[in-house]
Amino acid sequence: MKPAERMKIPRQTMPEQEAEVRARNFSEVNLGMALEVARREADRCLRCKDAKCVPGCPVDVDIAGFIAAIADGDLPKAADIMYEANVLPGITGRVCPQETQCEEVCVRAKKGSAVAIGYLERFVADWARENREQIFTPPPPTGKAVAIVGSGPAGLTCAGELAKKGHEVTIFEALHKPGGVLVYGIPEFRLPKEIVKSEVDALRQMGVKIECNVIIGLTYTVTELLEKEGFDAVFIANGAGLPIFQGIPGEHLKGVYSANEYLTRVNLMGAFKGEGSDTPVIKSTQVVVVGGGNTAMDAVRTARRLGADPATLVYRRSRAEMPARIEEIKHAEEEGVVLDILVNPVEILGDGDGWVRGVVCQRMELGEPDDSGRRRPVPIPGSEFEIPCQIFVEAIGTRANPLLTQSTPELKLNKWGNIEVDEHGMTSIPGVFAGGDIVRGGATVILAMGDGKVAASGIHDYLSKGG
Ligand SMILES: Cc1cc2nc3c(=O)[nH]c(=O)nc-3n(C[C@H](O)[C@H](O)[C@H](O)COP(=O)(O)OP(=O)(O)OC[C@H]3O[C@@H](n4cnc5c(N)ncnc54)[C@H](O)[C@@H]3O)c2cc1C
Ligand code: SF4
Repeated sequence: MKPAERMKIPRQTMPEQEAEVRARNFSEVNLGMALEVARREADRCLRCKDAKCVPGCPVDVDIAGFIAAIADGDLPKAADIMYEANVLPGITGRVCPQETQCEEVCVRAKKGSAVAIGYLERFVADWARENREQIFTPPPPTGKAVAIVGSGPAGLTCAGELAKKGHEVTIFEALHKPGGVLVYGIPEFRLPKEIVKSEVDALRQMGVKIECNVIIGLTYTVTELLEKEGFDAVFIANGAGLPIFQGIPGEHLKGVYSANEYLTRVNLMGAFKGEGSDTPVIKSTQVVVVGGGNTAMDAVRTARRLGADPATLVYRRSRAEMPARIEEIKHAEEEGVVLDILVNPVEILGDGDGWVRGVVCQRMELGEPDDSGRRRPVPIPGSEFEIPCQIFVEAIGTRANPLLTQSTPELKLNKWGNIEVDEHGMTSIPGVFAGGDIVRGGATVILAMGDGKVAASGIHDYLSKGG
């Protein structure tokens, strides 16, 4: 097909559940592409010699290669190319912010819209899940053992890459299910837990062992893993799951949640299934969530599905500065979420019996840019107003949990408590590597995975040199 013909094909759309229907259920919003639609989308790719999309991908997927294989109808080849670089494509195809990564630099976007790389990635992963019994074949063992702390995207990716090289890998996970934020944070309607399970199971098939309910720093220390438990190297990927609160009056009231607690109760512990959950959330008709990222968007869309009317999101900057993915903001609005922007909560009000009855907010305007380059929100004096609610969810960020690092004082940390690493992912302790949110602070799934790959390569070199 000539480039001019490729340029004429419009970007294919992703079928999705109707907004009014999905606002009342927890099933996945996006429904996936049919083969013919995926092939048509793949035909839009210009098969660039200098494929700009590849350096736009933190795990170096040969994007042009797998898309060409889809266009040719060779799905086994597309899957091989994909899994070579990315052990969790069903996850990244659903939650990656492609619009600011591979799709942002796609040459096709200069005239028209980018190739829908994320949708095609999801298509290949779903095909492989449904059509392949064994996704990876384990190589002969090297005799070296690596312990991984945390089973989020960084830990899982590092585990997969090390297992591909024949190392024996054990992941220690504090919670009772593997997946990290992928299972306790991101809701079912964006990332079905069945997808996470199947990608984790594919790693298990390669020989990766996962021990849940083990807290490193309590059950074992990092030093014990190396000196007593027989591991040759350790990768720390325990995330940054400690919620930050605004520090405003009323945060002690019943009905105030961190987004992490709210989402964990609903997603991981199943409060969305209704009656009978051991960890229910308070039933509420009016919910206010503060924040502008994916976490805030997930919390407010979850509240909407649990019956909140209105489910309101307040954010102190403008819409253009919201860090959440564009698709999530669009989906939230379609589902009836109220976005109240340039608004900052200043006090949570109680009903006299210890329960939340509302939140006082202040209107903001944008001033000069701050250190992040975004225009600083400035309060407008006298603009306070009240929003009635029974649940108030804070989704303004998280930071490193000090439990592990306090038990390993030799680990060098930065001023925020994140672990410092060199270009190979190695920490200040030889043989101990780290990556993902514990190094970067709250970031993205694919950046955590990129760190997992870098560390796996660093660990492999370290072990090959006799470490
Ligand atoms: C609600 C929400 C929505 C998000 N949406 C998106 C999105 O759409 N797209 C995107 O790219 N990013 C998104 N992110 C960010 C992304 O999920 C994180 O950047 C990513 O998960 C970080 O991966 P990680 O492996 O470093 O840590 P995590 O995913 O946090 O995993 C760390 C794991 O370590 C375990 N652990 C912690 N301490 C210990 C210990 N001492 N011993 C043993 N185990 C321990 C934890 O239980 C957890 O399972 C979202 C985050 C949240 C909270
Ligand atoms: S940059 Fe875009 S058009 Fe070029 S190879 Fe990558 S996906 Fe295809």
